[in-house]
Amino acid sequence: MTTKVINPKTLRKSNKVNIKFILWSKGDMSRLHLAKELKLTKASITQIVNDLVYEGEVEEIGNVERKGAGRPEILLRLNTKKHIAIGLNIENDKTHLSICTLDEILKDFVFNTKDRINSVKDIIELVRPVIDRWIYPYDPIGIGVGIVGPVDNGISINSYGILPNNSDIKKELEKEFNIPVKVINNIHAQARALLQGGNDNYMLIKHSPGIGCAIISNGKILGGEHSNAGEIGHSIMEINGLPCRCGKKGCLEAYCAEWHIQDLYESKSGVKVPIEEIYAKYGEDGLATKILDDAIQPMALAIVNTSMIVDPKKILVTGGMFNNEKLYGVIMNKLQELGMKKDCDISIVPQEQNIKAFAGAKDIIMNKVLEV
Ligand SMILES: [Zn+2]
Repeated sequence: MTTKVINPKTLRKSNKVNIKFILWSKGDMSRLHLAKELKLTKASITQIVNDLVYEGEVEEIGNVERKGAGRPEILLRLNTKKHIAIGLNIENDKTHLSICTLDEILKDFVFNTKDRINSVKDIIELVRPVIDRWIYPYDPIGIGVGIVGPVDNGISINSYGILPNNSDIKKELEKEFNIPVKVINNIHAQARALLQGGNDNYMLIKHSPGIGCAIISNGKILGGEHSNAGEIGHSIMEINGLPCRCGKKGCLEAYCAEWHIQDLYESKSGVKVPIEEIYAKYGEDGLATKILDDAIQPMALAIVNTSMIVDPKKILVTGGMFNNEKLYGVIMNKLQELGMKKDCDISIVPQEQNIKAFAGAKDIIMNKVLEV
């Protein structure tokens, strides 16, 4: 039997991270409370907390009265403003470029980037003015990038038409700006931006323009072997079915993505109409109603089937047809019809735009500061 020797420096670093994580996920607490949570002596906690306060990672925010005898305890709070990162959320139509702390969006620029981002060079040109203008005084710890499709080790494997396949975003951005870059799937980044604590269990499902899904299990994103877990948009609904933009046939997206709804409406009516107008016609125009009903059915099936596999506590939905009040009601009814579990809470993501702004930035901060 071998005894594992833990380096005291490593242990101290890990205790520091654990303290920050507990303050983030469970809220403000005293040194005594922290000692109980981490099963450490009050003396050890005091020493580590003092370091964290000195480093500006943790703040003392006032006294909390102790019951019975003894001095009042000082309440501690994670300094969420300490670290700042640049976030980039790249989707087919729009790109959010933001500067964020762990809980605040300091700047958020939204660009209409449909057909404007075709290479990593285009991303560099988009980010450059923000880096040049805001690197001082913000001193960001890095750039967090969320992009459509599977990502492996900073490389966008397939962003379904945004960048060429196998674009090394991390390498090129780090070379250009000389700060750390982390790249993950955009829906994974948005699901992580919604994370509140260490044992959350939820699914995020996004409609528009494609269909994305991310699974948070016990506070951690389910990545999978190719960082692709939850990619329900490209799960096959029909053998040799309709062609999908990923190159396969019969994918869920081919039946209910916005591009399919718009194309189908245009081919049947001869008129090209913005997607919001088609949504607004639901229940009033026969063609729009039929196309949307046909799109809702596979979407609802995918939600019910995925939730059977994942067993989440809640499902958060966002974008496209979920954002239309009438259609949201129809989808919820369809889910009940299909036997959706009653104790699984489904709700719409509040302030969707904020989640997009937070996405990549919050991901890199959580990763570097809280190691989650
Ligand atoms: Zn597909």
